[in-house]
Amino acid sequence: MALIGPGILSVFGLAFLWAWIIEKKRHYLLLLAAAPVLFALGVIVQVFSWPPGVGPNALLSGLFYTLAVLLTAEAIVRRSGKRFGLPLDLVFLTAIMGGLWYFAYIAPNVLVRVYIQNFGYGLIFLVAALFLTHLMRGRRVDRVLFWVLLAFSVHFFVRTVLTIGFSAPVGVKAFGASLFWHALHLSLAVLGAGLALTVLAAALSDVIDDLRREGEVDGLTGVLNRRAFENRASSLMAKAEYTPCSLVACDLDRFKEINDRYGHAAGDEVLRVFGDFLRVAIRASDLAGRIGGEEFAILLPGSTRDDAYRLAERLRVDWSEVEFACLPAGKRVTSSFGIAEVRPGDDLFELLERADTQLYQAKATGRNRTVFDDAALYRMAEPLDRERVAISSS
Ligand code: GH3
Ligand code: MG
Ligand code: MG
Repeated sequence: MALIGPGILSVFGLAFLWAWIIEKKRHYLLLLAAAPVLFALGVIVQVFSWPPGVGPNALLSGLFYTLAVLLTAEAIVRRSGKRFGLPLDLVFLTAIMGGLWYFAYIAPNVLVRVYIQNFGYGLIFLVAALFLTHLMRGRRVDRVLFWVLLAFSVHFFVRTVLTIGFSAPVGVKAFGASLFWHALHLSLAVLGAGLALTVLAAALSDVIDDLRREGEVDGLTGVLNRRAFENRASSLMAKAEYTPCSLVACDLDRFKEINDRYGHAAGDEVLRVFGDFLRVAIRASDLAGRIGGEEFAILLPGSTRDDAYRLAERLRVDWSEVEFACLPAGKRVTSSFGIAEVRPGDDLFELLERADTQLYQAKATGRNRTVFDDAALYRMAEPLDRERVAISSS
């Protein structure tokens, strides 16, 4: 009976090991693979009464169990980018092992040892759950993980009180046949498997999310690729709360010349820097995408053409001052911008086309400038450099 739990959890341990082999950067998976091994060692020590003698046996099994619990809690917390940290791990380890030693050698008392271990482990998982309260606002799998972890921690307190109460069975045999012992291993097998399954599902969701994100991002510039930009921008535009809404189309000036004179790799580097520059410049609610080779679009939900114009001007001026390690000293790259604001009934493609028309105007009238399609707005906007602003009346 006592070996069922370690058996089941070892299967999960193998699953975590396998997952780690595929996803080595997720170190917490390796901790989760090791935890069932330690738990199994603890059970073996107890079941086979090795080493013999209450003291050594209680201490060695206690050490294995405590390490298994700490490893599990640490791993689950680390999955969310947080950590228990060695000091807290050592506090728990020292407190539990110190307690076990005292109540094995100084004032032998199996009941107190049972309470120290179970309440200690419940507390470790409770602290882990407290580290992860933000998961309650996360994806469904994260919310489930939080509640399963919390239930797992609480069960240590409740089960112990219900099954052992105020008197422990006397002798190893009686202990092995007690309700406490059976309930302990049954609950660890069932709830431990539930917890392991939830963590496995969460890890799988993390991998799928990463893959989806990788599929949406342009590898060179780090902004959204065209398909992802179109999908996300279309669904943002469909939401009523995002009116007004504007779009900035942007194209680097005479980029072909950069490639021709300094090489394709230098051109790539300029694009990469431009992607970084855009991502830093926009708000979290804005969308930036690479629409073509050196053509980009930025959707600004909640922004009027006036706002969009100010952003574009700031981008244009700041970008024209950027220096590049891959280009000769003093060499600058400029950019041109076209702006359109959503009109009733517009879809993304009409918006893109209008912004593109303005961009074309910016190119045709000399480049390194921002053009938008409403002369009235020109008076409201405060151009950073009026010389370089052109208005088209299309
Ligand atoms: P304009 O000011 O009118 O925009 O002139 P331009 O030279 O920038 O315009 P054009 O569209 O003729 O040239 C764009 C160049 O961008 C051509 C293409 O080789 C280059 N390009 C497109 N994608 C990439 C890329 O991923 N890396 C590099 N290095 N160059 C690229
Ligand atoms: Mg260009
Ligand atoms: Mg172009």
